[in-house]
Amino acid sequence: MPHIQQLPPHVADLIAAGEVVERPASVVKELVENAVDAGASAVVAELRRGGMGLIRVTDNGCGIARPELPAAFLRHATSKLRGPEDLGCIGTLGFRGEALAAISAVSRVEIRTRRREDRTGAVLRLEGGVPGEVEEAGAPEGTTILVRDLFYNTPARLKFMKKDSAETAAAAGLMQHLALSHPAVSFKFIKDGQEALHTPGDGRLDSAVYAALGRDFARSLLPVEGGGDGVRVSGFVTRPLQGRGSRAMQVFFVNGRFIKSQLLTAALEEGYRNQIMKGRFPGCVLAVTLPAAQVDVNVHPAKTQVKFAREQAVFDAVYHTVLDSLARQGGPVSPPPGADPGKTLNPRDDFFQSMDAKTYRDQGAKPVSPPAGRSLSAWNTERGGTRLSDSVPPLPRRETPFPPLRGDAPPPVVRQGPEETPPKEEPPLVPAIPRAGEELPGQEALEPQEEAPWRIAGEVLRTYIVCEDEGGCVYLIDKHAAHERINFDRLKAALEPPMRQTLLTPAAVEPGREEAALLLENLPLLEEFGFSCEDFGGGAVLVREVPADLDAADAAATLEEIAAKLREGRSPAERREALLHTMACKAAVKGGWKSDPAELRALVSKVQSGEVKYCPHGRPVAVKLTKYELEKMFKRA
Ligand code: ADP
Ligand code: MG
Repeated sequence: MPHIQQLPPHVADLIAAGEVVERPASVVKELVENAVDAGASAVVAELRRGGMGLIRVTDNGCGIARPELPAAFLRHATSKLRGPEDLGCIGTLGFRGEALAAISAVSRVEIRTRRREDRTGAVLRLEGGVPGEVEEAGAPEGTTILVRDLFYNTPARLKFMKKDSAETAAAAGLMQHLALSHPAVSFKFIKDGQEALHTPGDGRLDSAVYAALGRDFARSLLPVEGGGDGVRVSGFVTRPLQGRGSRAMQVFFVNGRFIKSQLLTAALEEGYRNQIMKGRFPGCVLAVTLPAAQVDVNVHPAKTQVKFAREQAVFDAVYHTVLDSLARQGGPVSPPPGADPGKTLNPRDDFFQSMDAKTYRDQGAKPVSPPAGRSLSAWNTERGGTRLSDSVPPLPRRETPFPPLRGDAPPPVVRQGPEETPPKEEPPLVPAIPRAGEELPGQEALEPQEEAPWRIAGEVLRTYIVCEDEGGCVYLIDKHAAHERINFDRLKAALEPPMRQTLLTPAAVEPGREEAALLLENLPLLEEFGFSCEDFGGGAVLVREVPADLDAADAAATLEEIAAKLREGRSPAERREALLHTMACKAAVKGGWKSDPAELRALVSKVQSGEVKYCPHGRPVAVKLTKYELEKMFKRA
C-alpha cells in the first residue's frame, strides 16, 4: 500500500470544485443566486459558446467592500451564515461559502464591484483560484463577475462537456427557474449576443411566467392559492385539458428556491387524478412557503433538493390547494383561448389515447346486446336488457338523477336501437323555461334567482345534448361521459355497499381459466362492488348477484373486463380504482341510445352546476361555444 498523505490544498479545491461546478450552467446558477442574495433588482447573465467562451453576470446589488474582496473567494467564506444555529433557518439561496472558491479554482475570473456608499469600486483577477492584487477601479453600483476558460486546468472535466447548445439550454432553463422564483427581480439572459429571456421584475408571478415560459403556456394556467398547517401554496397549474406530454413544465419552489421533489410532484398529480387524460401530466409553477426551520436545504451541494420536516403537511397543502382550485373552476370546458373554434366541435380529440377502438364502437356506435352464447337472465332482462333507467341509479338514493321506471307499461321514450321510429306521444324535448319577460304577475319582485337552467334544444347523433344558456352560449354535452362521471363520483363516495339485484337464474361466466382464477382470488373485492360470485369449476365462475345499476345483460362482459384489470397486477388501491372506472362506465347511459327528457335534464343540470366536468378518463364532458365563436364560424363577426 502507498503511504497515506493529505492532499495539497489546490488538489482538494479542484475535487471540491467538481461537486459545485459541474458544467457552465452551474456557474450561471451560483453567480445569479449570489446576485439575488445581494438584493439586486436587475440581473443580466451572458453566455458565449455555451459558457465555454465566457460567462458574465452583472447585478445592481449591494456590492462587496474592497477589503473583503479576496475573502469572498476563500472556501467556506460567506456573509450569510454565522454559527451552527443559522443552519436551521436559511433564508438566502447561498450559504455554503463554496461557489466563488469553486468557480475560481477551475477558471480565470475577474470581479468588479462597488457598494453604493463607496466612491470608487474595486477589481480583482484570479487564475486557477490564485488571486492577484485588489485594484481600485471605476465601477457601477453592484457587481460584475466575468468567468473565462472554464475547466482550463481540469482536462478530464473539459472532455465531458456537452455541445455548446446543450449547455446554453441548461443555463437558459436555470435562468427561467430563477426568474420564476423571484418575480420582483428583472432577469435578462443573453446567449451569443442575443437576448433569450427578459422578465419585467414587476413582482407579479404571472408576468414572470409569461416572459419566461411563453404566452401559450401562461394561457393554459389557472391560479391557485391555499394551504394550511403552516404551509402556504400559491401559483399556477395547467387546466386539466391542457395536460403536457411530460413533467418538464412542473416548476416548484420552496421558500424561493427552485427544487426537484417527488413529494411535490406526487401531491400535484394526485390533485388531478381522474381529471387528466391518461399519459398526460399537469404543468405548474407552484411556490410553497413554510417556516425556514421546517425545511432542510443542506441536502445536496447544488442545493436542488430539500428535506421537509413534516412531509405529510406539505403533501396535504399542495394536494388540497390544487384539488380545490380545479373544483372551483366550475362549468364546462371552454375552448382554450386562441383556439380555432371549429376544432372544438370534436371534444374527443384525443379519444383513442385512452380507449381502444372496440370500446369506442361499443359505447358510441351501437346499442349493446347481451354477449352471444351467454345464458344470463335476470328480473330486468325480459325487456331485452337495455333499459337505460334500470341501469342508472342505485334505488335508495333519492337524489339520484334518474328515477327508475318500474311497472308494466313499456317505457315510452327509451328505446334500444337507433333504427326505431319515435312514438307519436313523445313529449317535446324542450322543457318550458320561462324566458325573460315571461314571468307571471307577482313574480317580478322576486330576488334574482340562481342562474336559469340551460334550455335543452335536443340531442344530436344520439350522443350529444345541445343546450343554450341565457347569456347566448351553446353547450354540447357528451351524455355518456357525463353520466360515467356521475356514476364514478357516486361509487367512489359510497360508504355503503351498492344495491344488488339477484339473477333469476345464476349465470355461469367463462372468462378463461386464468381470468376465472383472478376473479375467484378477488371475491371480497367483487363483493364490495356488488357481485356475488363463486367457483363453478372448470374455469367458470357462477354469478348470483350483480350491482343494481348494472344492466344484467352486461354482467358477463363486465366481469371479463374486471378480470383484465385485475390481471394488470397493481396495488390494491389502484385495482380498486380501476374497478371503479369499469363499473362507472358500464352503468352509464351509452352513446347511441336515445334518452328521455328527464334523464337529459338531470345530466344537464349536473354539468351546468359544475359538478361534472371531466369523465373519469379525463375527457371533457361538455364543450362550450360562445355566440361570438359561432358568429366567427359563419363570418358574421
Ligand atoms: P455563499 O453564496 O454561499 O455565501 P459564495 O462563494 O457564492 O458563497 O459567495 C461568497 C460571498 O461573497 C457571499 O457570502 C457574499 O458575501 C459575497 N458575494 C458573492 N457574490 C456577490 C454579489 N454578486 N454581490 C455581493 N456580494 C457577493
Ligand atoms: Mg453563493
